[in-house]
Amino acid sequence: MSVLVVGSVALDSVETPFGKADDVLGGSANYFAASASHQTNVQLVGVIGSDYPVEKLDPLKARGIDFAGLEQMEGESFRWRGRYRHDLNSAETLETRLGVFSHFKPKIPAQFTDAKYVFLANIDPRLQLEVLRQVKAPKLVACDTMNFWIESRRADLLELLKHVDLITLNDGEARQLTECANLVQAARWIMDKGPKTVLIKKGEHGAFMFTRDEIFFAPAYPLESVFDPTGAGDSFAGGFMGWLARTNDLTNANLRRAVIVGSAMGSFVVEGFSITRLMEISRDDIERRVADFHRLVSFDKALNA
Ligand code: AMP
Repeated sequence: MSVLVVGSVALDSVETPFGKADDVLGGSANYFAASASHQTNVQLVGVIGSDYPVEKLDPLKARGIDFAGLEQMEGESFRWRGRYRHDLNSAETLETRLGVFSHFKPKIPAQFTDAKYVFLANIDPRLQLEVLRQVKAPKLVACDTMNFWIESRRADLLELLKHVDLITLNDGEARQLTECANLVQAARWIMDKGPKTVLIKKGEHGAFMFTRDEIFFAPAYPLESVFDPTGAGDSFAGGFMGWLARTNDLTNANLRRAVIVGSAMGSFVVEGFSITRLMEISRDDIERRVADFHRLVSFDKALNA
């Protein structure tokens, strides 16, 4: 099955302790799509301004990502400027310029409306809701968000939670949204608002998946050097959703596998700026990294040695 994503298609300017890049390809939808395209077909909905260097999207098109839902409007493209200091777990947003996103009304192309797997990547929750109204009978709807929207669109975000099956967010965002310092309580708070599954990402400390009945934890891959953490969350989500759509299996065991595929994809993207690494890797690389994860967490539970 294919996966439908709506999110930002951006130009990012990023500063890390290892370098600086200006106006590179970014945005939640691009990272998600680049990552998910290793598993399945991806349909993308978003908007760019008249200034967007569309040729930057060619490598994504070459991977088969369907951009029929990408609108180009008169005006400036969405731009995000961020910085990471030595704590690579959290980005400091220096500037967010919504540009054409501030008057965008997403229109889902007819051929995308029967999507079964839908990811509402990080954008204005009002737009996420608007997309959801246009898809007919999805099997799994997941969303992401960030501090910017938790602060400025809280009521819309709470409305959105009533309509999604799953949410991904990082630990800081979970605490901010729920006002619970404890992540187990934060996950319960979110599940009470609608989503049956809550994925809380903790950067280099891994990710938790909470459902009513169980908690699963995946470590982050212990990389020796992290170059640019931008897009780790969206690439995680792309791997996770891409795997679920490819296998069309929503059992708990497969959700766990999806978390590991997501963790593998997050670990690749941070090895380079923008989506560079996601464009280089193959399914074999992903499989090898998943096998590494398996070795990383396997142990013999017998204590009677
Ligand atoms: P992450 O996976 O969380 O590191 O997401 C990084 C991407 O999110 C960047 O490429 C940004 O362009 C994008 N982004 C940053 N702020 C926003 C926002 N307020 N709305 C939508 N996308 C954003």
